[in-house]
Amino acid sequence: MIHFVGAGCGAPDLITLRGKKHIENADVIIYAGSLVNKELLDYAKKGCAFYDSAKMTLEEIIGVIKAAEKKGLATVRLHTGDPSLYGAIGEQMRELERLGFEYDITPGVSSFSGAAAALKAEYTLPDVSQTVIITRAAGRTDVPDSESLRALASHGATMVLFLSTGLLEKVSADLVAGGYDADTPAAIVYKASWKDEKVCRCTVGTLKETAETNGITKTALITVGDFLKSSFSRSKLYDPGFSTEFRKASK
Ligand code: SAH
Repeated sequence: MIHFVGAGCGAPDLITLRGKKHIENADVIIYAGSLVNKELLDYAKKGCAFYDSAKMTLEEIIGVIKAAEKKGLATVRLHTGDPSLYGAIGEQMRELERLGFEYDITPGVSSFSGAAAALKAEYTLPDVSQTVIITRAAGRTDVPDSESLRALASHGATMVLFLSTGLLEKVSADLVAGGYDADTPAAIVYKASWKDEKVCRCTVGTLKETAETNGITKTALITVGDFLKSSFSRSKLYDPGFSTEFRKASK
């Protein structure tokens, strides 16, 4: 059996109870060494074999899983954050299905949630934005044309950019060309939930210089939008005059 597990975005106590149980029971753990907190490996039992996927190809990863399955061992494939986002989990699942191996997935706390916590912010503020666009700038990995930053920027919604810290000049230009003002608030969140977490508030127009000044080149998210401002309306959910399934309006 193979368990894909979301490790959470950094702090070792952000893993789910289920994810931790899978680590404790694993005979083999293949972890994304570039971003997974190694302290999580301390939960593993004695004799567990560890493989750092940052140094492996897909074929090598599948090879390790195949060998473990042959011996009837329990494998954990430990991904950073939540495995469903930029984890290249799809191609692994496809191979496992082809081979007829059983697997399951345990979600994790994605870095976009970790970043909101670091910012002490709500992405979906009433009257500001009710949409979060999760995307990345096109770099060595292509992005479909219909999802260009410029096109997505036209919505003016809350935006969270993964994997884009090295492309900030282009990111700013595309966001402005798409419709955000250059002075729209933005923030770079470096290593959300890690001990060396850093939050740098800036604007769409000053992303590159802010990253440079703070020495941030990777492991960061760019968040953009008026959700970073302090003015917004209160919600209907907790409005005394608004009835819900659970509460009658008081007036
Ligand atoms: N599946 C992961 C994302 C993997 S892609 C998740 O759900 O978070 C790797 C990218 O995620 C990094 O380049 C960076 O943009 C972002 N990232 C991962 N961990 C981060 C963290 N703790 N703080 C800020 N960004 C992070």
